[in-house]
Amino acid sequence: MDKQKVLEKAIQKALDNGWQTGWEEAVESFEYSTADDEHYVQMQPYIRFNLEGDGEWSIGIFGLMYRHEFAQALWPKHDWKTRDDGLCGSCGVGFGYAASSGSECWKEHLQQMVIADDPIEYLAANMPT
Ligand SMILES: [Zn+2]
Repeated sequence: MDKQKVLEKAIQKALDNGWQTGWEEAVESFEYSTADDEHYVQMQPYIRFNLEGDGEWSIGIFGLMYRHEFAQALWPKHDWKTRDDGLCGSCGVGFGYAASSGSECWKEHLQQMVIADDPIEYLAANMPT
């Protein structure tokens, strides 16, 4: 899956799970862009969100991926089920310590994604189905 497809899938999933941009207006559509834009030149590639009405909001892909609210929506809270190998039976991540039921795996995913050599590859491999 290419970078653009991974991000589009992740964004759609987060939106489906109730994530919002932080603006009052709902997201009508979004697009991945590498286009030159004088306002966003420092954050290519970026995602441009078209909001209800005439609004729009753009954010660099890493700025978006590393938002706590975004990660929380992407990996919704689920019950921790310890497997024999100590990892979460629901999503397959571990915290490096004994977790209890209700632990928040999104935090672990976010940390791992931030330090991954290729955060988008991490995202692609660990996106909930
Ligand atoms: Zn989990």
